[in-house]
Amino acid sequence: MGEAAATPMGASMQEIDVELAALRRRIAELERARHAAFPPAVAPTPPAVSHPALASTLQAFVKRVGTILQAEKCVIMLYDPSTGRLVAQAPAFHLSDEEVQALDVSADHGLSADVFRSQHTITVPDCAADPRCAADALPALGVHNALCVPLVVERRNEAQLIIERTPIGVIHVFNKRYGLKFSDEDERLLTVLARNATAVLSGALPVSHAPTPAEEKRLANTLQQMASGLLVLTGQGEVSIINATAADLFGVTIPTATGQSIDTVVADAGLHAFLREALGQDGALTREFTLKEHVYATEAAQVRDEQGRSSGVLCVFHDITEVRNVERMKSDFVSTVSHELRTPLTSIKGFVRTLLDDPEEAYFDRTMRMEFYGIIDSECDRLVRLINDLLSVSRIERGLPLTMNYCTTDAGALVEKCVAFQRSYTERHALRVRLPEEALPHITADKDKLDQVLTNLISNAIKYSPDGGTITLSVVDEGEQLRFAVTDQGIGIAPEHMHKLFQRFSRIHGGDTQRVGGTGLGLFLTKNLVEAHGGAIWVESTPGIGSTFLFTIPKQPTSVNEK
Ligand code: ADP
Repeated sequence: MGEAAATPMGASMQEIDVELAALRRRIAELERARHAAFPPAVAPTPPAVSHPALASTLQAFVKRVGTILQAEKCVIMLYDPSTGRLVAQAPAFHLSDEEVQALDVSADHGLSADVFRSQHTITVPDCAADPRCAADALPALGVHNALCVPLVVERRNEAQLIIERTPIGVIHVFNKRYGLKFSDEDERLLTVLARNATAVLSGALPVSHAPTPAEEKRLANTLQQMASGLLVLTGQGEVSIINATAADLFGVTIPTATGQSIDTVVADAGLHAFLREALGQDGALTREFTLKEHVYATEAAQVRDEQGRSSGVLCVFHDITEVRNVERMKSDFVSTVSHELRTPLTSIKGFVRTLLDDPEEAYFDRTMRMEFYGIIDSECDRLVRLINDLLSVSRIERGLPLTMNYCTTDAGALVEKCVAFQRSYTERHALRVRLPEEALPHITADKDKLDQVLTNLISNAIKYSPDGGTITLSVVDEGEQLRFAVTDQGIGIAPEHMHKLFQRFSRIHGGDTQRVGGTGLGLFLTKNLVEAHGGAIWVESTPGIGSTFLFTIPKQPTSVNEK
């Protein structure tokens, strides 16, 4: 069934969209009415940020938040009860004064308003797809993704129970670096950091207050749990804070490193020079280091006290090994795909040219010509399969579901057909089918996608058994589901590579199988196709002995969309 088809309730997608738009308008109207009738309780107007000490506290704060969260930009917005608007406060982190001035939004609708009114954190992975970002004109500031935490003043009674929560504004961090998205950990960190800012901004704490022991403990605990490495140095280059990740990275323990000079704690010469450079200059420094075979994006920024004096350097180590791996795999992938497209095209072109050069059929008889047509036909199939795979992968990458066309499928006949088809590609392998004695039942599945899964696994079994051998496709009826297994006697997969097997662009057998065609997309797609049916896929393998790829398919999907 296609995507534009009627839903189970009978309404078309367009009708639902129209109703949704009307509902959204109605919600916005109701929210406006609620705001007019019950304006949010607001703390006494926060002190003007133009106060010089407060401005420098704010500047140090947004810079620290930007560095720790690896965000490109950070800004605080405060609620102005006289206008009912949320107004960005200068100084912000990596936003110009003009951009800050322009960021003045309604407290009724939009991203900032939603966070302010609901007092809940909102993470936006893709601003372009979220109309609330457009309402705050964030795309104009070059914002792709955002994490937004409310600034809430909490009043407690003597037993330390919260008796009142008053929102005063929101804090935004924009654009996680290295093309990543903000995580749950970022949310926890920002929530803790925001509490401190709230206390200062609401006037509950003096601008240059010393953190209370409880605040210090909470911040220290949060920083300790950060997955990224964190190092805070005094102006003299002594370690004042080091978290577990950073200690592990330098091969030291937290107690032995704390209070020591980086000359003894940091052995890596390049990193040591970088930290010395950061200590000796103003502004932030960013560089990449490879430590213990991992790539770390390292950012160091001066920390300043309320009087604007340098009190040392804050340094964050963010593990971007995976990001770099994916980039490398993507660039390998482009060259592999170009090769995979060129191979069938070269063959098609060659055979068509040969046929055109023999218009009188003087050299090639009918049998030969039919053979050439057969080759052209199967090479065209190969191209179509490759392009379909690329389209499916791009769909999955954009987070779109695969369109399932469920129909009644004779699993036994499909297995026989797929195996018979693959037999025509190999003379060195014996392809066997092992089915239960009782005929397999008809199941409700997407026949083309199941065909694609089987074809992929059998053709991999052939490709990765260069010395031939037996390939067996067996099916077991497990009651609610069928379990398929494709076993080969090929090169196998080493345990350390197993986790990469189903990742996109991933080709395991480097040099030795580069001769074998492939894009590294087959298993990624296969896994997605099996999971779209509600099944699971896994592998058992011994290097040099062979592999078995197993997967399950429920006989009936949970929500049936039968043709
Ligand atoms: P490719 O297009 O490279 O075949 P796949 O996603 O189908 O991509 O497979 C990913 C990698 O997994 C292959 O490059 C190969 O290294 C390994 N692999 C897949 N199937 C097998 C198998 N049956 N035996 C050994 N290795 C396999």
